[in-house]
Amino acid sequence: RAVVRELDRIKEQREQELVSGVIPPQETDPTDFKRRFLKKIRKLGEGNFGMVELCLYDPNGDQTGELVAAKSLKSENESNNLRREINTIRNLFHENIVKYKGICNEEGGMNIKLIMEYLPAGSLKDYLPRNKSTINQKRLLLYALQICQGMEYLGSQNYIHRDLAARNVLVENESLVKIGDFGLTKSIKEDKDYYTVTEEQDSPVYWYAPECLISRKFYKASDVWSFGVTLYELMTYCDRERSPPQIFIKMIGRSHGQMTMARLVYALEEGRRMPCPQSCPEMVYSLMRRCWSHAPDDRMHFKDLIKEFEFLLS
Ligand code: ADP
Ligand code: MG
Repeated sequence: RAVVRELDRIKEQREQELVSGVIPPQETDPTDFKRRFLKKIRKLGEGNFGMVELCLYDPNGDQTGELVAAKSLKSENESNNLRREINTIRNLFHENIVKYKGICNEEGGMNIKLIMEYLPAGSLKDYLPRNKSTINQKRLLLYALQICQGMEYLGSQNYIHRDLAARNVLVENESLVKIGDFGLTKSIKEDKDYYTVTEEQDSPVYWYAPECLISRKFYKASDVWSFGVTLYELMTYCDRERSPPQIFIKMIGRSHGQMTMARLVYALEEGRRMPCPQSCPEMVYSLMRRCWSHAPDDRMHFKDLIKEFEFLLS
C-alpha cells in the first residue's frame, strides 16, 4: 500500500514536471529527421546516382537549427541502393569517414533521404584546384595518409568501397579529410573476398582495376588500385586538364561506346599506366605503381601504404 502511494506520488510529480517543462516531452529518436523541419538551402553536388543538398534542420522553427547534408536519389528505382548506403554508413565510426546523422522518411518511406554531417569545404575535387596556392605537397601526402586510414578501417569492417576517387573524399578543414559516398559499397561475406558487379552503366571505369573491368570482380585490392588513381589526382591538385579520364583518353585514343572499355583493358593488360605527374616525387609515383600491379595479390595493402606515408611525413 505504502509502495503504491509512493508510486502515485512519483507519477504525480513527474506529470507536474512535464507540464512545467522541466522534462522534455517524450525522448525523441535523434536519427529520425522530420521532413517538415528540413529546409533546403542549396544543392551541394550530384554524382551518378545521387544528389546532395545543404539543409537546415530546424525543429524549433527559429533558425537555430543545425546544417546537415541530405542525400537523395535522382531516380526512384535506385532507392534500394540508398537504403544499402544508409545501412553501410550508419555502422561506420572513424575519424576519416563522413558521419552519419540519420534518415528522413517522406511519404511513407517512398522518398528516403540520408542525413549526414555537412562539410563546408566540399570534395577534394572542388577544394584542391581552388586552394592550390596554400596547400603544399606535404599536405597532399597527409590527405593520402588519412584516406588510407579510412580505407584500412573500412576493410577491417569487411567492406569494399568500389568508388574511391577524389570526388568522393570530403574536406572537413585544411588538415582533415573524410571518405564519403558509400553508394557502391558492398559488404563481403566471410567466405568470399570479392563482389561481382551486375550494374555496368555509369561505372567510374578509369578508377577501376583490370579485374573489375574484365571479370567484374572486386577485391579489397581493387580499392587499392582506385586509391592509386586517387593519389594521382591528389598529386595533380585535381587539375581537370590532367584528370585520369583525360590522361587515359589521350593514351588509348578517343573512341565511341563499348570500344572504350575494350581499349582501356587492352592498354592496361599491355602494362600501360598513367605517367608520373609533373613535380610529383619519384617516391610517391612508385607507390602509385605498386597500387597498379596487374595481379591483385601483387598490390600494396592499405596497412603498408599507411607506413609509407607516415615515413614520408616524418
Ligand atoms: P553520388 O553518390 O551521387 O556520387 P556523393 O555522395 O558523392 O553522391 O555526393 C555528390 C557531391 O556532393 C560530392 O562530390 C560533394 O561535392 C557533395 N557532397 C556530398 N556529401 C557532402 C557533405 N556531407 N558535405 C558537403 N558536400 C557534400
Ligand atoms: Mg560520388
